Amino acid sequence: MNESDLPRFSDIDIPRLPQRLASLLDDSRARVAALLAGPPPYGWDNLMSPLEAIDDRLEKFWSPVSHLNGVMNSDELRAAYESCLPLITAYQSEMGQNRPLFEAVQSLADSAGFADLDNARQQAVRHMLRDFRLSGVALEEQERQRFAAIEQRLSELATTFSNNVLDATDGWEKYVEDGAGLAGIPDTALQNFRQQAEAQGRSGYRLTLQIPAYLPVMQYADDRALRRELYEAYSTRASDQGPQAGRWDNGALMVEILQLREEMASLLGFANYAELSLEPKMAESPAQVLDFLTNLVSAAKAQGEGDVAQVRQFAREQGCDTLEAWDIPYYSEKLRERDYAINQEQLRPYFPASKVIDGLFAITGQLFGIRFEAKTDVDLWHPDAQCFRVLDGGEPIAICYMDLYARARKRGGAWMADYCGRRQTDGGVQLPVAFLTCNFSPPTKDRPALLTHDEVITLFHEFGHGLHHMLTEVDVLKVAGINGVAWDAVELPSQFLENWCWQRESIPLISGHYETGEPLPGELLDKMLAARNFQSAMQMLRQLEFALFDLRLHMQPAPGDAAQIQRLLDEVRAGVAVVEAPAFNRFQHSFGHIFAGGYAAGYYSYKWAEVLSADAFSLFEEEGVMSDRTGRKFQQAILARGGSEEALDLFVAFRGREPSQEALLRHSGIVDR
Ligand SMILES: [Zn+2]
Repeated sequence: MNESDLPRFSDIDIPRLPQRLASLLDDSRARVAALLAGPPPYGWDNLMSPLEAIDDRLEKFWSPVSHLNGVMNSDELRAAYESCLPLITAYQSEMGQNRPLFEAVQSLADSAGFADLDNARQQAVRHMLRDFRLSGVALEEQERQRFAAIEQRLSELATTFSNNVLDATDGWEKYVEDGAGLAGIPDTALQNFRQQAEAQGRSGYRLTLQIPAYLPVMQYADDRALRRELYEAYSTRASDQGPQAGRWDNGALMVEILQLREEMASLLGFANYAELSLEPKMAESPAQVLDFLTNLVSAAKAQGEGDVAQVRQFAREQGCDTLEAWDIPYYSEKLRERDYAINQEQLRPYFPASKVIDGLFAITGQLFGIRFEAKTDVDLWHPDAQCFRVLDGGEPIAICYMDLYARARKRGGAWMADYCGRRQTDGGVQLPVAFLTCNFSPPTKDRPALLTHDEVITLFHEFGHGLHHMLTEVDVLKVAGINGVAWDAVELPSQFLENWCWQRESIPLISGHYETGEPLPGELLDKMLAARNFQSAMQMLRQLEFALFDLRLHMQPAPGDAAQIQRLLDEVRAGVAVVEAPAFNRFQHSFGHIFAGGYAAGYYSYKWAEVLSADAFSLFEEEGVMSDRTGRKFQQAILARGGSEEALDLFVAFRGREPSQEALLRHSGIVDR
């Protein structure tokens, strides 16, 4: 692609966004109408290809806006974004329910020419027909309107839900004047707190609920009351409980979201929303997923109970008789230190961000035969952001942006999104462009950014998504890269790449002391590997609790109030959790994955795909973890293919058989009994 086509963030005219979007959408409508006015028969070139160009233009207008809204939120942008959203949603509903367009695509699928299309093009047509169906194209007029109105309202609710979580997170702060009150907390975090206070023109330390501030308090602060205070503030965000009770409460929103989803499913003839959600996924039915999750609970439960009993016993020895939720990370960290003589902070100096990125490039370079180079002639949204060109045999194949550090008005968590996908155009192939966003502890005045090993894993995870998007060889936009990949297979490449954070062969490539350059010493490496599965069963149960809560929430009749949602969560916890949550805990009120992201009745996807990723990695265990031959095979069978074929077929093509759970349980150190 012409690299001058990359987004110009500084040129985005925020106040005029809604107006510009409206005219772009009108022009798109006119183009679709003109296509349908053309003479049949419809084929790829006179229907699908021009439709793809229309979608592509729209995506390249909207994705930078959506990206900025996530990483550089401002009142002005938020207002413009919120005025734009209904326009986008209305356009999507209209296209999804456009019967003449549906009939045109159907006629293409029924035509003799369909069989002559390649796999990717056939799959794009099939996906499009399925999406028409799931958008209510077949409904009668009145129901169609209702369906579109629901989509509109759901999109508003998702944005409000997210904004509430962001505002509740940013809306809490605590100043501590005297460092003595922060005993136990590592220097990196303290420096960060001091800088935060300085930035506000204050003395002392500023504590916030952003993850790089929250975690060190939970894991290291000796002051139990302080831990409880932060735990309560964090676990009650956007709810009716805690220090900000009632402000930004997501309770009523969650109820409305669930009711609308249920109505949507019923309009399309599904028994519940979980069935609708699973329709385009790899899993066949909610019952199958329920079984899958319940089996993993059985495999992990006893060991998870053992994990907690161990922390409880250890805490008792330290004089803490009632182990509460805000004590668990603290005593767990101490227990890890006792048993493995290691903590996350000890590792941090060995993982400066720049070294980790170089190593990440070296590892993926060797495995997949690619190369990276910094690209400096680009327009960036923040001084922290970076841009890289990906090359294969000297030829550019993709562009990747990274924005790694936490800051205010940046949405928490880590994610990968795309600016555009690979596609064939009249002027050649358009290269895929990815955005990688993380929230790591930023550099301080005296030190470069130093990552914990957990943060290194997060970076590899998101980069795995990025490679899935960037190493695609499919040139049909709808099924290129991450597009069109079944949701429950999307986490395969990301979780797969995490494995290289745990290998003796690859760790020297990503580690080097920030002062001496010395790689992670053998002794520390041994300890880190030995501690890998510390509390793994407990952690797996937590993920299973979220997944079961999400699935059952979307299988049962929609709740009448937020208390009913709480009751279901309590019920799931009673069967799964090994740690009791305090009554004020309102985790679900900030569960953006399922209320504001795409994971509704899909949170199970993480575990589902982890079976695939662990099993895929087991081939590297057999053939060498740095084997470029196996790397190329993975790239060819999975990364290159995107959504152009069924996920299970791609997996089998790589592994030579259907997936097995054995590798996941083995890697997690869980002994199935
Ligand atoms: Zn992911």
